[in-house]
Amino acid sequence: MKRQFAVIGMGRFGSSVAATLFKEGHEVLAIDKSEENIDDHKDTVSYAVIGDSTEEETMKAVGIRNFDTVIVAIGDDIQASILTVLLLKEMGVKHVVAKAQNKSHGQVLSKVGADRIIFPERDMGERVAHQLMASPNVLNFIELADHYSIEEIKVPASMEGRNLRELDLRAKFNVTVVAIKERNKINIAPDPEETLEPDDILLVIGENCDLEKFERAK
Ligand code: ATP
Repeated sequence: MKRQFAVIGMGRFGSSVAATLFKEGHEVLAIDKSEENIDDHKDTVSYAVIGDSTEEETMKAVGIRNFDTVIVAIGDDIQASILTVLLLKEMGVKHVVAKAQNKSHGQVLSKVGADRIIFPERDMGERVAHQLMASPNVLNFIELADHYSIEEIKVPASMEGRNLRELDLRAKFNVTVVAIKERNKINIAPDPEETLEPDDILLVIGENCDLEKFERAK
């Protein structure tokens, strides 16, 4: 379903969010007070507008209330980021996602009504550290809660040609295979009789310590 997003602040983070949403087929309005930044990114979004997001008139003129989600990607100017979130919430924007530079910035953004706070540097640092610690068989992961994750893991060589029932990973490793990626297809809730092929990728959910044991399985 095509949705409407507005991204305020076309720095590295904002422009990457905006271009990705646009590439995925959504309508994206980019707003930045810098003409140069708007010029640099106008071809990777649906519309691009030069304007100061702390000014109510500017936000009204672009019809900011009509957007499903507004992403506030202003970083260095913490005051502008906070004022923008406050203004958007006062104007009735339903879903405001804001980028925070640090914990205290995040706390203030949450107090003024941001619905979701993103800490790009912190989150990316955690992701990279996690990937560096994981075995090379781990292709991707999503942290679900403290100590619990879903991981994409290459089928270990010893498990090729065997099925989920005989492998009994739940009993042996306390992890559950929720899906199997087979080339371009995803097999959700796989049949226990499903035989694992060499190029298959398992989507496995579990406690991190159990996932680590499974990653090391030969
Ligand atoms: P990144 O790390 O994503 O590159 P950053 O954290 O360094 O960005 P800034 O460069 O401070 O963040 O801001 C991102 C963009 O937001 C800049 O292009 C800047 O022109 C724009 N910006 C800052 N304040 C406003 C404002 N009040 N209205 C509109 N755009 C703004």
